[in-house]
Formats: sequence, C-alpha cells, structure tokens
Amino acid sequence: MSGIEVRPSRVAVLGAGLAGLRGADVLSEAGVHVTVIEKEESHGGLAATVHRGGFRFDLGPHRFHTTDDTILGAVRELLPEGLMELERISRIRLLDKYFRYPLSFVDVLEKMPLRRSAGLTISYALERLRGLAGRVEPDDFRGWVQGRFGRRLYDLYFGPYTEKLWGCPPEELSADWASQRITVPRLTELVRATLFPGRSSARTLVSRFHYPRGGIGRIADGLASRVVSRGGSFLYSASPKSIMQLKGGGFRIHLDDGELEVDAVLSSIPVTEYAGLLGGLVPDPARESAGNLRFRAIVFVVLKLRKAMDASDHWIYIPESRYLFNRISFPGNFDPGAEPEGSQLVFEFTCDPDDGLWTDGESLAESAARGGAELGLFEAKDVIDSTTVRYEHAYPVYSLGYSSKLVPLLDALDRIPGSITCGRQGLFRYNNMDHSLEMGECAALEILGEESSLRRFPWTSDTWADG
Ligand SMILES: Cc1cc2nc3c(=O)[nH]c(=O)nc-3n(C[C@H](O)[C@H](O)[C@H](O)COP(=O)(O)OP(=O)(O)OC[C@H]3O[C@@H](n4cnc5c(N)ncnc54)[C@H](O)[C@@H]3O)c2cc1C
Repeated sequence: MSGIEVRPSRVAVLGAGLAGLRGADVLSEAGVHVTVIEKEESHGGLAATVHRGGFRFDLGPHRFHTTDDTILGAVRELLPEGLMELERISRIRLLDKYFRYPLSFVDVLEKMPLRRSAGLTISYALERLRGLAGRVEPDDFRGWVQGRFGRRLYDLYFGPYTEKLWGCPPEELSADWASQRITVPRLTELVRATLFPGRSSARTLVSRFHYPRGGIGRIADGLASRVVSRGGSFLYSASPKSIMQLKGGGFRIHLDDGELEVDAVLSSIPVTEYAGLLGGLVPDPARESAGNLRFRAIVFVVLKLRKAMDASDHWIYIPESRYLFNRISFPGNFDPGAEPEGSQLVFEFTCDPDDGLWTDGESLAESAARGGAELGLFEAKDVIDSTTVRYEHAYPVYSLGYSSKLVPLLDALDRIPGSITCGRQGLFRYNNMDHSLEMGECAALEILGEESSLRRFPWTSDTWADG
C-alpha cells in the first residue's frame, strides 16, 4: 500500500476470515471505526465452526500451531473456554493399509510386501545419488518430489494425492507448492523426532497442536465480539459490487443495498475479485494477470452416524483415485466434549466450480457413505444424516509460472494509496491460520502508518504447515 497522509478514521474490512478479523481487531483497538463486509451469513471463513441442525464441525481438520509465543498468547486471550493441547493422530490409507502420517520410509518398508519395499528403496537411493551428483533443480512439483523421495513413492502416494487435490497433472504445478508444504526431514531431524516425539521444529513433523474448546471457530468468534464491543459493524451476506476512489482521498464502496464511504480499505477477499472491484484503478495488464490465477474449491460433506466412532484419528488422507474425496476428519476427536450425540465425519472433495462435484451434493454424500463403509470406518446403515458446505476459494493453485502473473497484480494493488490486500486469498498464499492472523495485523498497522515488520509477507518454507 502506498502511504496515506492522514490517519484514517473509517476503514472497510472486506472478508471476515481470520485475516480480516484480526485486521479489524487491531484497527478498532486504535480507535478506528471499522465496517466488516462478509459475503457469508457468519464470520470465520475457512476457520469457522459450522453449527447447523444438530451438526457441529470445522471445515476440514484445523489444528492451531505457531512457533510465535506472542500469537499463541493473543489467541489464548480470545478463548474463555480455553485452548487444549492435543497429540496429533493421523494416517494415510494406501493399498488397503494404514500408514503413519507424515509418511515415513521405515513404516512404508515395514508394511509393504518385500518386492515393493525393495523397489521403493532402490528408486529412493538412485534419486539421492543423482542429488549428490549435482542434479539441476526442477521447477515443477513432480520433478521436485521425485528428486527427494524417488519415483516409486511418487507414483504410489505424492502423484495421485496431488492430482486429486489440484485436478491437474502434478508436472503443471510449480515446485513452490512442494517446497512450502512438504518437509523433507534431515536425517538428524528424523532421529530427533523418533527419540523425542513432540520436540521437532519442522512443521510436518510437529506432533502436538492446539485446539480451542468448542471448535476452531471460537478464535473468529472471540475476534468478532471484541470488534463489536468497540463499536465496529458487521455487514453479513453482503459483497461489494464496485469500489471507487474519491477525489479528496478515500473510497466509495457500492453494495447491493447502498454505499459506504471510507478512508481506507483492508481486503482479505480473493485478490482476483478485489482487482475486479477496483476497476480502472488497476491497469489492464495487471487485471488480465488476475484472470489467469486460479483457486481450487472444496465441497465438505459431513455424515452423521448414530454411533460413536472407533477410530481415534484426527484425520486420514485418502490418495487413491478410486475414492473421490481426499481426506476424512473426525470432529469428535478434536473436542470430544462438543460432539453431538453419535458422531460425525467430514469428507473433503476438492473440485472446480465448473465441474460436476461442485453441484452434486447428493451423490457426493452417497459417495462419502459408500467410501467410508468400504474403508471399514462404519457400516452404511449407521449413516443417519448428511449436510454439505461449499467453499469456492479454498486453495490458491500454484500453476507453473503463477508468480509471473501474481507479482504484477500485487505490485499494481500496492500502488493504490489507502488500500491493502492480505490473507490467504488476498495474497494468494497457501498459508495457515497463524499466518493469516499475522497478515491481518500487519495490514492494519500499515493502514495506521505504524511500523509493520513484514512487507509482502515472505514466509520461508519452514513456516508452512499442512492445511
Ligand atoms: C481444508 C483446510 C484445512 C486447513 N487446516 C489448517 C490447519 O490445520 N491449521 C492451520 O493453521 N491452517 C489450516 N488451514 C488454513 C486456514 O484455514 C487458512 O489459512 C485461514 O483460515 C485463512 O484465513 P483468511 O482470513 O486469510 O482467509 P479466509 O478464511 O478464506 O477468509 C476470507 C473471507 O472473505 C470472505 N469473502 C470472500 N469473497 C468475498 C466477497 N466478495 N465479499 C465479501 N466477503 C468475501 C469469505 O467468505 C471469508 O469469510 C486449512 C485450510 C483448508 C482449506
């Protein structure tokens, strides 16, 4: 954001996920009047807990983890019912067997038939040797992963899972995604994780995490009520239609039923939509770039069972393509006290809004029920109800060359005085809850003209966890 001369007194915050809410929190604490505009009926975004007709669930597994004690302390303050610390239990289902997550070579070798184990080991060893011989670093996902884990493990797990998650061949994805999301543990790290479980610093090896009593959405609830207590307003089920810059500074935001004038805008909505709303304020080439950035959607299908579950997992990854869903989570294992009678399972179907999975909730519920029963998690007759939630902008897709489209767009947005974009959607960053909280805070400080430690939020790969 280019500087604005006068400290703003009225700010519009677009989007009430964690980034927007934390931004509104910091601004309202500084005495600014904030209006939060959120298209859904409630706040929380991806980190919401949905309460609906006897269901209570998060949008997929949400574990809170941060290496920053200040963020942890700030989150604790928001939660009168407390923050639990849990031991992560998660597995991967492959070839009719369950493997530990993160995938460990030792576990795979122990459980696989001898021939397959030998093939995995040889292909891993060959890649390590190629690495030592100074292989050229590939820029696509497939090359990056194969170079670290071997072709056989890629074909068995990383390739199918990635293709299902993103809906495109992994060689069309940038290696950025792999390097940000997949921790390749050093040997010393693996040994430490085995001898001293829970002390590892690499994100994918972290085995303990925090979870608020009552659901992950309690963090958003806490932020929203603090903003309201300071006089902030929330417009739910509302989206801006266009945003115009005013001559003397500031913006006019057109909504379906009226308009709003503010001194500054903090946006956490998808950067592609924000660029569209700003119209001529964003030069044509940058707006065209926005048209080439893609988000992947998710349909969450939740099944309610009449019985309590036997599985103690927080979530299970399902890479195989014969199942349409890629992960199952168990809300009752995050917070048993809050589980309604019986139990629930959340199935994630990643898709694009123009394919059949996005619209076909009923057959997805059938597919979830059939798949869950086939995996031995329950009997089909125990499913008593289902519900569906759709989230259009769930994952920013790091296609090959995406940064050459993103950077000109962010640069163009950065030149608009009084406007800042932040958060997972606003910066097109595959990030976590703690990052979004920090992004919202930094964006608010920039609007206030105060020192903010981060510009363009250059998170290093080790700060990314598994979402
Ligand atoms: C399946 C899944 C599991 C995850 N698990 C973890 C985890 O275990 N740990 C972790 O730390 N992180 C996890 N994450 C990531 C985490 O959920 C996000 O990083 C974080 O919640 C993003 O917050 P945000 O505010 O940046 O974006 P969002 O939560 O997406 O918020 C954006 C808000 O803007 C609103 N909006 C969009 N368009 C408009 C519009 N035009 N007008 C008005 N409002 C609009 C949306 O409705 C939403 O409320 C996971 C993500 C996914 C998808």
